[in-house]
Amino acid sequence: MYAVTHFSVGLMLGQAVGNSYAACALGLASHVVLDVIPHSDYSKIIFGVSDLAAVAAVACVSIRAGAGAPALIGGLAAILPDLEVAVVHLRMARDRASCKHRLFFPSHSGLVRHGRLSLPWGVITQIATVVVVWTALRGAFM
Ligand SMILES: [Zn+2]
Repeated sequence: MYAVTHFSVGLMLGQAVGNSYAACALGLASHVVLDVIPHSDYSKIIFGVSDLAAVAAVACVSIRAGAGAPALIGGLAAILPDLEVAVVHLRMARDRASCKHRLFFPSHSGLVRHGRLSLPWGVITQIATVVVVWTALRGAFM
């Protein structure tokens, strides 16, 4: 899933649980669950930059709205696993001949199935996921 989707869900889980350690664990766990849901991903660096800009925008809005440290830790923990994907993409772009880079996170390595869906449904499932999590947790925010 897009980083902004992982971040938004991790942020909401962190805010709901209110504890930084639990937020970190929930953020990482949510990454696996969200990667199982069929979704679309991107492979061009420009989309990755746009995705990170969206993460920064969500973080700024959330901080202004009063999100606490557990929320931000949950969000950051939720996007952290995709760092290995970004590193592999950057390495593959640098040395095109070598494609022997290994991924370790369960939903990236093949240990847990990674759901795939083409556009536009792959984006719609991500929006629906954020809406469902927000709806389920909104009582914890008020
Ligand atoms: Zn991932």
